[in-house]
Amino acid sequence: MTLNQNLKAYNTFAINAHCDKLLPIYSEIDVYKALVKENAPFRILGGGSNILISQDIKATVLHNQIKGISIIDEDADTLLVSVGAGEKWHQLVMWSISHGLGGLENLSWIPGNVGAAPMQNIGAYGVEQCQSFHSLKAIDLVEGTSRRFFKEECGFGYRESVFKGAEKGRYIIVEVNYILTKKPVVNTSYGAIQQRLEAKGIHQPTVQDVSDVVIEIRKEKLPDPALIPNAGSFFKNPIVAKAAYLNIAAEHREVPHYELENELIKIPAAWLIDQAGYKGAQRGAAGTHKNHALVLVNNGGATGAELLGLADEIVDVVDSKFGISLEKEVNIW
Ligand code: FAD
Ligand code: NAP
Repeated sequence: MTLNQNLKAYNTFAINAHCDKLLPIYSEIDVYKALVKENAPFRILGGGSNILISQDIKATVLHNQIKGISIIDEDADTLLVSVGAGEKWHQLVMWSISHGLGGLENLSWIPGNVGAAPMQNIGAYGVEQCQSFHSLKAIDLVEGTSRRFFKEECGFGYRESVFKGAEKGRYIIVEVNYILTKKPVVNTSYGAIQQRLEAKGIHQPTVQDVSDVVIEIRKEKLPDPALIPNAGSFFKNPIVAKAAYLNIAAEHREVPHYELENELIKIPAAWLIDQAGYKGAQRGAAGTHKNHALVLVNNGGATGAELLGLADEIVDVVDSKFGISLEKEVNIW
């Protein structure tokens, strides 16, 4: 345990802020010990790739490092794996691919830990983790009891779950179980995946091929947090009623959009921010990335409050220009 720990190395925005205590958690027993010995409040930290620390943290930060990947059940078509919440997400994806298993390949190269994946139901390239999710085990930090959540109890939605919503901060997820398929059917319909595969002469892609292409595209498009500190997409892509979309389209015929169920339309937040004049914007050391307006960046020494100020400014400007209220995807600490 470290007192007054600087968290700069523990968040991908590289924000220089402190917490009262940083406590590594290697097992479920460590959680129970912390509940007995340490003073609340608690915060839960994984890889720090989806938080913006806006002030010093007056709490004991439980740093989840529970490891292990084990097969707990199997039938002719599927494998049920149990994964320690402190495993790196990408390592799990690589493990599944090395075993020829399908389900997670489109989610390659997402930073962070397995325990945080259900938290916002991570998604990319047309796939969400809930599609392979079976259940998770969590410890209730208020009651000190353990509970298993099955899929239907998790409230998974678009970058959403009960752990990010109504129950935020209450449970520490210690283990997640995924069902992986032995007969993968790959999903190459999203974005440039199909085109890339064809350019490589791959007509019947394996999960390894899809993963390789996803990693290639991501490395080209997204800033590496080790070089330009960031937390990925800062805002969710807004989903609006058709009428709201038509209002925008009347003035901007080129507005990119994706039709969802129930006459709802998803509009990329990056386009709205770009149109509002904020692609590559800078406020001191806080900014948006020059190629990807949805990614807020720390150009060196920005405080969390400065980044939050820029985010709020973007919300206001986009709202007054388009009448759409952007919702933050990143968790504000
Ligand atoms: P942290 O940042 O440590 O925590 C995030 C939140 O989850 C916090 O509120 C924390 O308290 C809570 N939490 C963490 N662990 C637990 C636990 N064990 N139990 C309960 N609560 C917990 N996200 C996507 O969905 N899709 C993407 O494609 C994607 N790409 C990204 C690309 C880049 C370059 C970056 C920097 C981020 C990207 N993200 C993406 C966001 C981020 O990687 C994911 O949300 C990831 O799951 C966060 O994991 P973490 O361990 O770093 O979480
Ligand atoms: P992109 O492929 O340029 O697409 C831009 C936007 O269009 C995204 O909002 C995406 O929605 C949407 N979109 C594209 N094709 C779509 C389709 N066929 N159906 C429905 N919506 C579609 O996006 P990108 O920024 O390069 O990111 C690629 C993928 O990685 C996306 O899925 C994105 O969510 C994910 N990603 C997430 C983060 C994060 O921090 N959350 C960071 C980087 C990348 P969706 O976002 O809903 O897919």
